[in-house]
Amino acid sequence: MGARSDRTQDPEIIAALLLARRGQAFFSRKLAELRDAELDEPSLLSGWTRRHVIAHVGLNARALTRLTEWAATGVETPMYDSPEARDAEIEFAATLPTRALRHLSAHAAVHLDVEWRDLDPGAWEAVVRTAQGREVPATETIWMRTREVWIHAVDLDNGATFRQFPPELVDGLLTDVERVWHRKHSGPIPVLEPTDRPARTREPAADGAPRVRGRAADLARWATGRGGVAPLERVGGGPVPDVLSWL
Ligand code: ZN
Repeated sequence: MGARSDRTQDPEIIAALLLARRGQAFFSRKLAELRDAELDEPSLLSGWTRRHVIAHVGLNARALTRLTEWAATGVETPMYDSPEARDAEIEFAATLPTRALRHLSAHAAVHLDVEWRDLDPGAWEAVVRTAQGREVPATETIWMRTREVWIHAVDLDNGATFRQFPPELVDGLLTDVERVWHRKHSGPIPVLEPTDRPARTREPAADGAPRVRGRAADLARWATGRGGVAPLERVGGGPVPDVLSWL
């Protein structure tokens, strides 16, 4: 972006930023392909039009900008005042005139990227708090944005698919989903077994945990709650279990 480059020299952070920026470009491209009238049509998220998705993704960039500014300054600025405030803001922004909605999407993304680019290298380890109350280093804002832009590009429902995602993103999603499942849920947690990846090192499946097998991108789609159970199979036979909630 522009003539200036990231202040951080950490190769892991730079690689993570690249994946987030590719995701932003992917989302922006799918949005640009939609005519104004098509924004009023349903998205893949139940109860949300495409306008809601666009509003949410733009407001998410603003919320992550607040976390990045928190890391930069040490002045606590939460992502959202409350879950209710977050939802009300999405509902309002979804009603913006189309030009303003597109502007929100583009401008919020650029602002976040500038905050990341200019963040003091040492501040990436500063601890901030997510909307769910988790304390994380500022580096986590990159992954939080990455999964938003890529997956919500699919939710726009105009041609983007998980099979178009880069492999490192798909792998990151599978890891993220399994981590969250183990944190949020008790009982048998499904084990994801991608057929197009070398076997990952992991704890052996707990007794009774269903093992679900398929292409990594298809597993990521299903596990993130975007349907698509058909190409998957349960190891040992029987129906693929109901998917657990993720975010
Ligand atoms: Zn989201």
